[in-house]
Amino acid sequence: MTELAMIDNPGFLKLDLVIRGMKISRDSLDSPEISRAIRLSNETGAALELNIILPDEVIVNIPVLACLAEEKPYTLVKKGDGFSIRAQSGEAVEVRLAPTPQYYDRKTTSGVPMVRIGRTYGGYLALSPNPLCEFIEDDLACHYCDLSTRDHRAWTVDEVLETVDAALSEGAAEYICLNVGYTRSADGGIALLEPYIQAIKDRFDVQVCVQAQPPAVDHWIDSSYAMGIDSIAYNLEVYDPQIFEEIAPGKMRVVGRERYFSALKHAAKIFPSGAVVSNLIIGSEPVASTMKGIDMLTALGVIPTLPIYRLGLSASTDASTAAQTIEPIYRHLGEGLRRNRLSPTLISHFNLAFNAIDGEYFGGEAPIRGRWETVVKSKRGTRLAANLSRVRRRLRVRPLDDDFSEDH
Ligand code: SF4
Repeated sequence: MTELAMIDNPGFLKLDLVIRGMKISRDSLDSPEISRAIRLSNETGAALELNIILPDEVIVNIPVLACLAEEKPYTLVKKGDGFSIRAQSGEAVEVRLAPTPQYYDRKTTSGVPMVRIGRTYGGYLALSPNPLCEFIEDDLACHYCDLSTRDHRAWTVDEVLETVDAALSEGAAEYICLNVGYTRSADGGIALLEPYIQAIKDRFDVQVCVQAQPPAVDHWIDSSYAMGIDSIAYNLEVYDPQIFEEIAPGKMRVVGRERYFSALKHAAKIFPSGAVVSNLIIGSEPVASTMKGIDMLTALGVIPTLPIYRLGLSASTDASTAAQTIEPIYRHLGEGLRRNRLSPTLISHFNLAFNAIDGEYFGGEAPIRGRWETVVKSKRGTRLAANLSRVRRRLRVRPLDDDFSEDH
């Protein structure tokens, strides 16, 4: 595939930008948007990303400081009042920068920069309120874990609420995405999030998605839905058992691969259709293995999302090869979703905002769209979904009996 074909196709361009990176031209560096992002990164220690909106409203986020480092195949250049991305061939496409939220400059009442507590990615506010993960403490951290994001004390509920309030009030986010690590308890870590989720749901009319590890007992999956979670992800990351153990030793040795499947299966019965998600990282295992993972997950009623982390792919990866590799995976995903009558909910799009990719550009039928307009310009749909989800939760969730509390 030529560079021109890459730049003309937003899906391919996103892929190439994630794999091979982008630098920022001198005049762009001086622009208020980018100089502010760099200043905030330096002042707060939060590694900020530029949320770039490509043609067709496709979102890609790129670490701003990585754009300062070295020669890259693409350059972000100023064009009038806006920006464009220019390839080495000289071809360029116009892009927009999602505004860096105003609350990034604010502090909580307790004095913590809000940008350290929560950051936005294409309409999702991502927070990891409690950094605890026993995989890390036991030297079994996942290889792709961004340990720098867990280098803080647990934020208080008030600190999180202030940050959520600030982000929602200025319209920087529509959804909340909470992440939690693993604890060796029956709940697997989700109990650490419970006070935050309840406080957020009590105070705001907003949908919440969570990325967690499977709890040891199914009760805690029912409880996760009861506490107000709208979409849950237990991320398998790879299907191949050996590679799973290599890249996620804690998940394999402590939780066990089979528990991921059984927990996902149970969650798919409890949560609304399309709201249970699991990642399969593209490039981390052979294509045939990723396809088997897609078959397995979709048969369980789970939406596989396909992020492109730098794992398995590098700046020297030929992007056209990567694109050709991805094409059959997306066709396969489309077939699996159709066969199992699955369609992702809006809230389960969150992985797309974190650089998963949109199948439409790779020969798929766009079962999942990582569009800025989908996640941001959907206030009416979001409110409708939130109302429906409240009604459904009231109907579905049985009060937890007293015995249940003994499992906690
Ligand atoms: S589960 Fe893995 S990725 Fe998540 S916090 Fe723990 S080590 Fe990091």
